[in-house]
Amino acid sequence: MMKRLKHEWQTLSKRLQTVNLALFLDYDGTLTPIVRHPRLAKLSNQHRQILRRLNRCPHIWMAIVSGRELKEVKRFVRIPSMTYAGNHGFQVSGPGLHLVHPQAKKSARLFQKLLPALRAELKTISGLWVENKQLTLSIHYRQVRARDVARAKQTLQKILKPFLRQRRLKMTEGKKVWELRPPVTWHKGEAVKWLLRQKQSKSKRPWLPIFIGDDVTDEDAFKAVKGHGIGVKVVYNLKRKPVRSQASYGVASVREVFWFLQVLQQLRG
Ligand SMILES: [Mg+2]
Repeated sequence: MMKRLKHEWQTLSKRLQTVNLALFLDYDGTLTPIVRHPRLAKLSNQHRQILRRLNRCPHIWMAIVSGRELKEVKRFVRIPSMTYAGNHGFQVSGPGLHLVHPQAKKSARLFQKLLPALRAELKTISGLWVENKQLTLSIHYRQVRARDVARAKQTLQKILKPFLRQRRLKMTEGKKVWELRPPVTWHKGEAVKWLLRQKQSKSKRPWLPIFIGDDVTDEDAFKAVKGHGIGVKVVYNLKRKPVRSQASYGVASVREVFWFLQVLQQLRG
């Protein structure tokens, strides 16, 4: 059962007072509210300031872990000294860190070949758009009329069928988006584990991981930190319905995410 982070802060803050903290943050829906188009999901200056201050605290390490393309998420956050994982962790860059998953390089060629066909076939569905993220592709349907969503999915599955059967790609679902990924077990959870291993190899003290995210694809990361770390899920209607999640804590809004980051900064600053 997920507990509201706000109500648990008194107890939790004691645990977070002195440890090395590895803070992993999703971007869309976590640091910015869900908007009509991904390009409109801008981080406010006030929120950037909170991230920047927290990033300067001793023994705190921060990474953004997003489904977006790496260069895009970096451009939106604009804090150079932070670490970034883009494309669900297939690309990582940060001080002393660099990764492009080898399989992702291979799959990128397939995705670039598939792209024109996908765009042509899906053109008939109004509101649907295909985003080219190089190592992965996103098919956004948040502007598609509800009655057309099933048809859109069928059309997509028809095009992808031979590739799915030959395991040349994977299809996953997020909030109003279908994603085509390289056919390997690699996701935000694996990326978080990889990042922690890198960090741990350079330090004697353990790092306590915290992951904050809002979507289905963040569940892999909550699972990766479960037990030894802390998962925090952003659930917009937290009070109204019970939530099934691998996260132990819940927050009800982006605002509450920043409330948490701020009290954490006050605790550690
Ligand atoms: Mg998200």
